[in-house]
Amino acid sequence: MTLAALRDRDCPICGSADARPEVVSTRRADYLPLADLTPFWFGIEKARCFFSYHRCSGCGLLYNPIFFGEAQLGELYATMPPNMNSVDGDAIAATQRGYFDAVAAACPLDGDYLEIGPDVGHIAGEAARRGRFDRFWLFEPNREVHDILSAAVSGQRARVFAGMSNLNAVPDGSVGLAVMVHLLDHLLDPVGMLEAVHRKLRPGGTLMLVTHDERSLLRRVLGPRWPAFCLQHPELYNPATIRRAVTQAGFADVAITRSRNVFPIDFLARQAGAALGVRTEWMPLPRRAIGLRLGNIMTLARRSTDQPAAMAVAERVEISA
Ligand SMILES: [Zn+2]
Repeated sequence: MTLAALRDRDCPICGSADARPEVVSTRRADYLPLADLTPFWFGIEKARCFFSYHRCSGCGLLYNPIFFGEAQLGELYATMPPNMNSVDGDAIAATQRGYFDAVAAACPLDGDYLEIGPDVGHIAGEAARRGRFDRFWLFEPNREVHDILSAAVSGQRARVFAGMSNLNAVPDGSVGLAVMVHLLDHLLDPVGMLEAVHRKLRPGGTLMLVTHDERSLLRRVLGPRWPAFCLQHPELYNPATIRRAVTQAGFADVAITRSRNVFPIDFLARQAGAALGVRTEWMPLPRRAIGLRLGNIMTLARRSTDQPAAMAVAERVEISA
């Protein structure tokens, strides 16, 4: 019987081992063998089952002390069928265009563009159309979408990579805008990833993150039935803990806002019905889409222009010029 490999995970932000249980599912994933968990991972099994979320006493992060190990995660993601999301493509595209609008208002759209987990490239495509980026560096583990992703940035100098753990191909200090949408809450070492991205940013370069907000109204209303409590999220952030994570990785000028998601009304109502145990099959519901600030936060942060590491990069550029 193979269990989830990480049995005693310390807080991935502050390293504290002291955490108290806060959110559990009726059927806990903690002591179930992997074979029993895969139907929940793939969403085949609709009942709720996730690892117990504990609140770190050191920094307040909500995370799973018991979770899959790196190798187990690799296998689970590799066998994940593509496009499991049942929100229609137009609503996803509209949501992601909104993310780009927010970042376009806050930073110059030049230097290199780096995105980790770009999926089919909704945001990268906007960046290609509306920005003046030199090169596109796209790290997308799902190979099935690589062709669509490449097409989204066609005409640009772009490279697509299947791994996410190694950003070595990207020159340090080159990136004007780095984007990670719904990625950070999937990672075992989120601060390590943030530090790696920080090194790639040029002085003054911008990072844009979208994550779930475990302090949102939606989470409070739904409790353990909030959909972000699931096997794919080894930790979940709120405005205070995401600020702590990016600050610890060296970022400055951190701004956090509730982000807007576009949903077809029928999808939203059926999701809410499912979460609350109300049947909605018989309800006539409009397909029209609406934008809601619902359960997600956007974080914008910069690599400071006056850090020693940033200075070193600037000096190197001067020498080579
Ligand atoms: Zn902590």
